[in-house]
Amino acid sequence: MMRLKRAVAVIGSALVVLIIIMIYSAKDLSEFAGKRQPVADYESLKFVNLENRIKQLEHDLNQHGNEVQDIKNVMKNIIPQNASSHSIKNSQMNPKDRLKPVITEVLYESNCPFQLNFVPKTDIQMLEIYKRLKFDNPDGGAWKQGWKIEVDEKDWNRQNKLKVFVVPHSHNDPGWIKTVEEYYLTQTKHILNNMLLKLPEDPRRKFIWAEISYFSMWWEDLGEDEREVVKRLIRNNQLEIVTGGWVMNDEANSHWISIMQQLTEGHQWLQQNLNYTPQSSWAIDPFGMSLTQPVLLKEMGFRNTLMQRVHYSVKKELASKQQLEFRWRQLWDGTGKTDMFTHMMPFYGYDIPHTCGPDPKVCCQFDFKRLPGHGLHCPWKVPPQEITDKNVAQRAVMLLDQYRKKSKLYKTNVVLAPLGDDFRYDHSTEWDVQYNNYQRLFDHMNSNLNLNVQAQFGTLTDYFEALHNDRKDADFPSLSGDFFTYSDRDDHYWSGYYTSRPFYKRMDRILLSYIRAAETILTLAYLSGKPGSAWITDREVGLERQLSDARKSLSLFQHHDGITGTAKDHVVIDYGKKMLAALNGCQHVIQHAAHILLSGKDAETPDRNALFYNIDDVRHSHDSIAERYPITIGPELRAKRIAIFNSLSFDREEVVTLHVSTPYVEVLDTKKRRIKCQVSPIFEYGSSMSQTKYQLSFVVHIPALGLVSYTINALWEYESPVESVRSGIRIYNQYGDVQAPVGFSDILVSPSSREFTLQNNRLTASFSNLGLLKALKVGANTVPVHLDFAKYGVRQTAERSGAYLFLPDGDAVPLHIENTIVNVIEGPIMSSVTVQLPYVRHSVTLYSSLGADSLGIEIENIVDIAKTSNFELVMRLSTNIKNSDEFFTDLNGFEILRRKRFQKLPIQANYYPIPVSAYIEDDKTRLTVLTGSPLGTSSLLEGQIEIMLDRRLNQDDNLGLGQAVLDNRPTKHIFRIILEQKTHSCRATAEGHPSGFPTLAAHVAAQTLLNPLVRLLRTEDEDKISQPDYLSVEAEFGVDFVIPTLRTGVTLKGRDHVAFVVHRQFVDTCFADQTLLKQFPLSQGSVNISALLPTELGSKLFKTSLSFLLLKNEVHIKGDLLMCPMEVQAFILQR
Ligand SMILES: [Zn+2]
Repeated sequence: MMRLKRAVAVIGSALVVLIIIMIYSAKDLSEFAGKRQPVADYESLKFVNLENRIKQLEHDLNQHGNEVQDIKNVMKNIIPQNASSHSIKNSQMNPKDRLKPVITEVLYESNCPFQLNFVPKTDIQMLEIYKRLKFDNPDGGAWKQGWKIEVDEKDWNRQNKLKVFVVPHSHNDPGWIKTVEEYYLTQTKHILNNMLLKLPEDPRRKFIWAEISYFSMWWEDLGEDEREVVKRLIRNNQLEIVTGGWVMNDEANSHWISIMQQLTEGHQWLQQNLNYTPQSSWAIDPFGMSLTQPVLLKEMGFRNTLMQRVHYSVKKELASKQQLEFRWRQLWDGTGKTDMFTHMMPFYGYDIPHTCGPDPKVCCQFDFKRLPGHGLHCPWKVPPQEITDKNVAQRAVMLLDQYRKKSKLYKTNVVLAPLGDDFRYDHSTEWDVQYNNYQRLFDHMNSNLNLNVQAQFGTLTDYFEALHNDRKDADFPSLSGDFFTYSDRDDHYWSGYYTSRPFYKRMDRILLSYIRAAETILTLAYLSGKPGSAWITDREVGLERQLSDARKSLSLFQHHDGITGTAKDHVVIDYGKKMLAALNGCQHVIQHAAHILLSGKDAETPDRNALFYNIDDVRHSHDSIAERYPITIGPELRAKRIAIFNSLSFDREEVVTLHVSTPYVEVLDTKKRRIKCQVSPIFEYGSSMSQTKYQLSFVVHIPALGLVSYTINALWEYESPVESVRSGIRIYNQYGDVQAPVGFSDILVSPSSREFTLQNNRLTASFSNLGLLKALKVGANTVPVHLDFAKYGVRQTAERSGAYLFLPDGDAVPLHIENTIVNVIEGPIMSSVTVQLPYVRHSVTLYSSLGADSLGIEIENIVDIAKTSNFELVMRLSTNIKNSDEFFTDLNGFEILRRKRFQKLPIQANYYPIPVSAYIEDDKTRLTVLTGSPLGTSSLLEGQIEIMLDRRLNQDDNLGLGQAVLDNRPTKHIFRIILEQKTHSCRATAEGHPSGFPTLAAHVAAQTLLNPLVRLLRTEDEDKISQPDYLSVEAEFGVDFVIPTLRTGVTLKGRDHVAFVVHRQFVDTCFADQTLLKQFPLSQGSVNISALLPTELGSKLFKTSLSFLLLKNEVHIKGDLLMCPMEVQAFILQR
């Protein structure tokens, strides 16, 4: 750093000028990349005519003031950034891999809103707020969680009136107490039908709607005339679609790709049916808010968002400083490029008593559905009054007082007063009483000039527009961080739902992986031009239809009572059945597309219903764990052809395991060469082994988006090729004999137990005599990693844990484990240990593959707590890592943030979602936990990470669900544990930076965990396949580029297109050595799209918004596309 400063001083202003020129030129290149020429055509853009370009650019920049600010901000940081880990990273790269000379690349990265070397300056940082707040919860009076708000009438006058927007809404959960279909038939249908009648009665009436799952169901029931009325209401700005997602998604457990999918599902529907693009987002009910949501919304073109369920102490803190409206910013953003304008509702709830102002007793009197005779009442015991000429003056002043008080919590003179609740406006009388009484109040307020108010019905965007007219964005504070863990009152932290109904949480991730695999392989089949590729994208009869249905089921489950596990039992079953059908649909799509890809150019068009392959992942019901498809081979049926599909855009070399009927086998690759394989017995219960089937493991090598076939041959017993190896088996704590399966005569059985180790090419794991992990050794370093299981109980008080709330009775108590049978398998391809513990069948596997599966250990827990009561099970990993009270958890698998354990908060408040990963680290070591199911996690002691596995709770927690959580199913969870040593004095981020990043190993291990290789088993015995593999990707991008979506059936301007999304993940390379960087090469920030997709002459590539609604600039299809770290971009391909 010192040396650099001196250098800067010497070169002085000349360098500064040069840098400015270079930034401008880099800015120019990225800005005009699509319009003028591909970024890769760098050489053609010489520095001649620089002056003209700068002029043009300044003109352009002046129109976008904040972009100038971006550059200024970048300027401030350019020197340190240059000397940062970027240069360390670059120096590790193979020089020939570099896109361009270092200076241009560093400049480009500097132009990214990505600041790691400093903690970006934001007005509000949530972790800092948490450090400061006392969380003391004093009684605030009428506004219980706030304070007494004083107003002075003189604050308003004729020139400065209070502007009030009353926004009628109806919150419709797509499944909770009833299934989505039950709600639709009994409630939602009537709400929307009444809207169609009641909104046209008066053009001043407004209404907003969020859930497209319901809206699309209703649309199907409408005639042409009625559809025209809907279109007119939208055109008139009486009806606004807010967010426009399929559902209002949960933000804790959902994966960001699924959030994107569910928003895209709704947006595509809106595009196709209403030619409509939503502008403002509305999230009043998700139980805590994620920072991933605004980044996705921003890329979809949203200008504003609104949230409600935030910790009461945080609300009070922000309200006290008029900071409830802010520019929500990503943790790494040093420029404000990712800002999303956000409105946080101030009070306890989104119902009418908590939305007009601070006093619910008053606001309740303005919920006219609670007028006597409508079946609802006010708990504060003062009912509403019908507005009449007699009382209007008094009632108006009373309501206005609430609006004025509410306005004091915000910076502008514009007030938002939502007017609705769950499933409201289902009776036409409710429309009448709400709209008529409010209109009388507005008319009175607006005509009495001395009240200095202008009140009206409004849409959400009406409110935001008035606000933006009142104040510019820069007047609002910037805020970075998230809003977990939510508490609505006292110590009621909503961290139970991070884990509730974990069986379906796991199913969600499996379905996501299938949808990704199915849409990817379908797109490849479509683009291949092979026989049968034409009809598959047909929306009515093609495979597209099955895929589209599957997407709808996944989207539905993202609802904040779906993946959260907070719906009634029968609704959970309904979600499960829909997901099972979706899984089966995806499997059908995958096997059919695989058949097309492996068939010859002159093959016959395949029968659309034919089954060419069975997918080795069989589910018999919506609530049972998948089984392996048994491969029966022997003397009669000697060969089985299989195919493996890799849905990821990087090369994979991993272990594949299948179940075969004989231990005498060989495995052949595409070139018919015998490859190494390992045969092991299958343990069924205790030490008993299957006598009819075996595990066959071998290492496959599948290039990016590749489909590769292998052959499994049955052999005679006397044939024993050196490549086919049988595992060594040891069974500890086993009294008496075991029945060894055929082929395994030398099993070591011992009535006692001892400690032992297992190892692969990268690490050694030590286990206790109970078969539980004790330590991990990587390189020369051994770190104690003790694994145990523990349980929480519930309190003996009235308020107890339920589906939403985690209210433990104290610290977790370790499970008592007696000497249990320990089954050990050892071999050159995989080694494992399996133990049956109380409530958990626990196994640890080490793979030896040179791939991402060998970077750590894999834990499989089959959890069954169905026989317990009021029981919450956790798995803990205890190490000597000196992480103090800090740990890191991810949001939606998209980004990672720093957490801190606070003594001032109870256990349940220190719990956070773990959608994909969590880690603890000190100067030397990092331990990462990756999970295949979203769950709850914490680090309650230094060196420790705990993860909740399942919860069984015998009571309701009084949040409306009205039932206990007793439908536990045996559930399989898969984790990967990665232990890594840090390169000495290497840092990816500045000290105390709020953002964390996965290591290279953690990134690839997470990607492969969530996107397992798809195993296809050929149904026909004969070998009719004309092609052993299908490999369409010409060159790889680097593992930091991820293709979350590659699909067909995206509509833009009435035509169907192939579309895809690209994400560039930033990875922390301080833990990567040369070997790892060679194994998993990183990009230099650019991708070449034509290497990914077959692009014909005349194909055009356009950048679009993230849900493919807004067409942006054209991008040169053969050019390299530069992307900033953590950027997400969407494209459509026009052929
Ligand atoms: Zn809801």
